[in-house]
Formats: sequence, C-alpha cells, structure tokens
Amino acid sequence: MHGRRMIEDEKPALADSLWSATAPPGPACPPLSGEVEAEVAIVGGGYTGLSAALHLAERKVPVVLLEAREPGWGASGRNGGQVIPGLEEDPDEVERILGPSFGRRAVRLSGAAPDLVFDLVARYGIACDAVRAGWIQPAPDAAGVKLQRARVEQWQRRGAPVEWLDRAAVSTALGTGLYEGGLLDRRGGSLQPLAYARGLAAAAIRTGAAIHGHSPARRLERVGAGWRVVTPRGVVRARIVLVCTNAYADGLVPGLARTLVPVTSVQVASAPLSHNVRRSILPGGEAASDTRRLLVYFRLDAAGRFVIGGRGAYGERGIRAAQARLRRLAHRMFPQLPDELAWERAWGGLVALTENHLPFLVEPEPGLVAAGGYNGRGIAMATAMGRVLADKASGVPDAELDFPLTRLAPIPFHALRRPAVALAVAAKGIRDRLGF
Ligand SMILES: Cc1cc2nc3c(=O)[nH]c(=O)nc-3n(C[C@H](O)[C@H](O)[C@H](O)COP(=O)(O)OP(=O)(O)OC[C@H]3O[C@@H](n4cnc5c(N)ncnc54)[C@H](O)[C@@H]3O)c2cc1C
Repeated sequence: MHGRRMIEDEKPALADSLWSATAPPGPACPPLSGEVEAEVAIVGGGYTGLSAALHLAERKVPVVLLEAREPGWGASGRNGGQVIPGLEEDPDEVERILGPSFGRRAVRLSGAAPDLVFDLVARYGIACDAVRAGWIQPAPDAAGVKLQRARVEQWQRRGAPVEWLDRAAVSTALGTGLYEGGLLDRRGGSLQPLAYARGLAAAAIRTGAAIHGHSPARRLERVGAGWRVVTPRGVVRARIVLVCTNAYADGLVPGLARTLVPVTSVQVASAPLSHNVRRSILPGGEAASDTRRLLVYFRLDAAGRFVIGGRGAYGERGIRAAQARLRRLAHRMFPQLPDELAWERAWGGLVALTENHLPFLVEPEPGLVAAGGYNGRGIAMATAMGRVLADKASGVPDAELDFPLTRLAPIPFHALRRPAVALAVAAKGIRDRLGF
C-alpha cells in the first residue's frame, strides 16, 4: 500500500494503524544473539514490560527485555490513546474484592497512574502528543447515569478531581446531544500510543536497559535459582523473569494465556477535520469512552482526525463489518461530520479481559512473575504495573507491593469462553440504543 506503514505480521483488517503511520521511528532494537546475563529478563515490549525495564534501569538493575516483534507491536501501539484513571470496577468494589489494605493501595495506584504517565513523558521528553485535558465517560441512558453518579461520589470521597456533567454540560463538552450526562475526570488525557511506547523504549535504553526486538522467547528453563530464556538466536540468563505478554500471551508460561480472555477492539480514523467541524467536537480536548458494556470510545488526534473505536469484532469479516459500523455510528453521533468525509485508516488489536475485571499480578513459580489484564485501560495502569513489577524484582516484599500478588488462576472452560464472550458482545450490540 504505497509507503503506508502497516503493522508488520498482522492480518490486513487489523494492520492499517494511524499510529504506525504517524509515530516517530523507535530506537534500534537488534535481535538477541549469543548468551547474555542479567539480573532481570523481561518478555514482552508493551507498556508493562517497557515501564518495568525503565524503572529497573533507573535503579541500576541489569535488565534485558525481549520482544517478539518491536516495542509497541501489541496493544500498546494500537490503542485509543485515552489515558484513563482508575480500574474498570469502582473504587468501593475494588476495596471489597481485594480487601481494605490492598484494595486501598490498588485504588490509589490506579487513580495516580495517569500522573506516572504524564510525569514519564515530561521527564524523558517523550514526543507523543500528550495532552492532559481530562477524560469524559458519558452515560447513554438512565442506568448509565445512576452508575456514573455513584462513581463520581466514590471518587470525590477519595479527594479525586472527578465531577458530574449534566445533560447540557456533557452535550457541550462532547459536541453531540446523544448522552444523558457524564463523568469528567481531570486526571485523564490522551496521547499517541505507539509514540509513547517507542519513547518509553528509548528512555529505557538510554537509562541502561537492553531491548531486543525480533527476539521471541520460545522457552523458559529453570537453572538453579534462576532462569534461561531461550530465543531463536540467543539466550538470557537471569535471576528473575517478568512475563509481560498480556493478551498476546502464547504457551510460554503454562496456564497464563488462560487467565484472560483476549477480545478484539477495532478503530477507524478520518482525515483531518476542517477547523469549523473540529471546534464542534470535544472542543476542550478531552478523550471520551462511554459506559455501555460494549464501550465506544472517541476523540480527536493531534492533527484533528476523528478517531473512534469499539470492542467485539470476531474474524476478518467481522472486523471489517465492525469498522464499517463505527464509521456509520460516527456520522450518526456527530451529524456535523461531512457526508464526504474520508475515512483513512482502520485497524485493531487484542484487549485482555479478566473474569473479575481487575488486572492480575501472579508468580506461578519462584522468580517467574507475570502481570496484565487491564480490561481496556492499560495506558496508565500497565505503566503503573510495570513499576510494581520493578518493585517486586528489586526485592520489595510481597506484602508491601502496591498491588496484591495472587495465584495463577486459569479460567475454567476457557476454550468455550472466547466465542461465548464474542457472542455476548454481538447480542449486546444489537440491543444498544446507538446501534453499534
Ligand atoms: C484497539 C485497542 C484500543 C484500546 N484503547 C485503550 C485506551 O484508549 N486506553 C487505555 O488505557 N487502554 C486501551 N487499550 C488497552 C491497552 O492498549 C493495553 O491494556 C496495554 O497496551 C497493555 O500493555 P501490555 O504491555 O500489557 O501488553 P501489549 O502492549 O499487548 O504487549 C505485549 C507484547 O508481548 C509481546 N510478546 C508476546 N509473546 C511474546 C514472546 N513469547 N516473546 C517476546 N515477546 C512476546 C507481543 O509482541 C507484544 O508486543 C486498548 C487496546 C486495544 C487493542
């Protein structure tokens, strides 16, 4: 496709990413060759692995990161770029599930996670169009309003800058009259996701980490108290291995892929909008994701392109159909978008959902630690979890971590879950008022 940068090794319906086409190039990450030694080996170069590498390098811990393709190849280079505070479950519920001590820490960690993102961007001078203009979660119906009001109250009780927008205020903020109200969280914002991932990789390398692209970890072997991580042309020997493969997990760690349900999320992006139209959509520069189970998320990018995404496509034809539905939905939600608007890109990737809607941090064997499952909110949370992994790998006792370490718990009947989740999502889509 004449010079357009597509995501390598990806099926065409998911590969034509706006972010691949517009991100600055990443740092050189030569494949691993030969045998090297480190304190910590990291598998997977998304935000989780890159943030862990950077935080370990800051502490002068020798660290080698292995990525199967290039940093940001997975969800981290493809997402909506919405920096979202908090977890999918509301703070009270997180504290109920995780208990008062770890619950409170997890709420604090997730609420402050955008601070960490914008701080890293500033400290390392990462050019990724980062804007901290807030995040809006609009409610499409009365049920959503009820949910949102409770959410606002829970965050306000914890002193967070979260407020309720009534119908008129949310219509003005979004530029569409389709929502009944919404939550504005001033901790959130947006960025160019692949540029952020590549910037983290460059920062980690500058700080002392080694990052190897095109170096899939094929096997983990126990040697004494440590590990050998085997790639096609090289081996890393390390005391601790952090597995950060999330929704792209393969069979490297038995049972790990079965702790989550990978669901495809797809996006489409228009050509840059005219000045007038641009001013009428999210004029304050916020990012927005609504409360429907299915989740539709939208914002403008730095060049004024309208970008909209949603979950739940299945198979090549299903993906194309979902992308076409999103384009139709965009025109229905924002009638000010001109009929002749060019839709230039369509792509997608895998989101890792978990059964309890919370991320996981597990240690299946001593010295082998894995984390993931951000349920579509990983820009901030994966960055924060990377720091928790760095804490764990540099000897912080489990009881003092900012997130609880739990047992690896594969989902029963996992093989049946993936199609079941896809079907549930499709059925929900038919019922949804806005038609996606
Ligand atoms: C379309 C889409 C939209 C989204 N929108 C948003 C959003 O707006 N806001 C938000 O906060 N979150 C969003 N998310 C979620 C967010 O992108 C993820 O939570 C986050 O990127 C997860 O980062 P990660 O590092 O854990 O995993 P990933 O970025 O997926 O990285 C995993 C990496 O592991 C590598 N890997 C796998 N196996 C191996 C192996 N054996 N050896 C070496 N490497 C391996 C893969 O190549 C991959 O690069 C979205 C996700 C998608 C797909």
